[in-house]
Amino acid sequence: MESILLDGKSLSKEIEIELKQRVKNIIKRTGNTPVLATILVGNDPSSEIYVKMKGNACDRVGIKSLKVHLPENITTDGLLNEIDKLNNDDTVCGILLQHPVPNQINERLCFDKIVIEKDVDGVTCLGFGKMTMGENAFGSATPTGIMKLIEHYNLPIEGKHAVVIGRSPILGKPIAMMLLNRNATVTICHSRTKNLSDIVKQADIVVGAVGIPEFIKADWIKDNAIVIDAGYHKGGVGDIEINKVKDRTLAYTPVPGGVGPITIATLISQTVESAEERLK
Ligand code: NAP
Repeated sequence: MESILLDGKSLSKEIEIELKQRVKNIIKRTGNTPVLATILVGNDPSSEIYVKMKGNACDRVGIKSLKVHLPENITTDGLLNEIDKLNNDDTVCGILLQHPVPNQINERLCFDKIVIEKDVDGVTCLGFGKMTMGENAFGSATPTGIMKLIEHYNLPIEGKHAVVIGRSPILGKPIAMMLLNRNATVTICHSRTKNLSDIVKQADIVVGAVGIPEFIKADWIKDNAIVIDAGYHKGGVGDIEINKVKDRTLAYTPVPGGVGPITIATLISQTVESAEERLK
């Protein structure tokens, strides 16, 4: 059987077409264009590109992006103050704080300053807790996008052994909880995990979220697994040796064109949802 390519690029285009219509309806009903505020601290070139890509996606669906660019040396208090201004700005329905922020800043404190209604990137502890408990909350954008892809292609999750490599607050932990909520049996691996390759060999679903180019080797992955590569590195490679394994998977995400675009579409989709919530 041929492997299924989980086409994040094409699914995100489909999502954007639907969002464009929903945004038109919001504007018609309220007279206001929804606003996503994006906060960029400093001048990290990759972060600048990510924020720009998110702004472009806002343009495509007809929402406004309010770009807040703050100096590299801003303090935690300074950033908390900026977030608070956006929390209190009624025109803003979503706030994205681009990760990572410079070292002097307490990122967790700043993420948690975002009010839950505007946490469209799903980075707050409250949002994570609610999602984990199966309550209504915006999920972290990358894992929520991954779940959208898996669901769009009707891939089996229940009863499957999912192995997540990485346990970051924005990716590894939330995807593990999302898969658990869909009745997968989940193993979470990290830098202190022993015998990583043996664990990955048992996986029906592999999620690579390590941040090291092609760290997860093709020969660790069993035949007919679902292989999700969240990584993106220079030279167009991910965290998994995806090109060496893709032909014997049940399904896989390409790099690029898999997890990246669906992450952005999810962020924009949750911003539109936040704007619609206000209409209720
Ligand atoms: P992160 O915060 O750096 O977390 C990396 C995780 O990998 C940590 O939990 C770490 O374990 C684990 N790890 C590191 N070395 C390991 C090793 N030798 N063996 C096993 N586990 C190891 O990274 P992240 O933000 O989650 O991002 C992960 C990847 O996803 C990156 O490639 C990033 O570029 C990508 N990403 C993509 C998007 C997108 O929009 N497409 C968004 C976010 C992230 P410890 O906890 O023990 O340190």
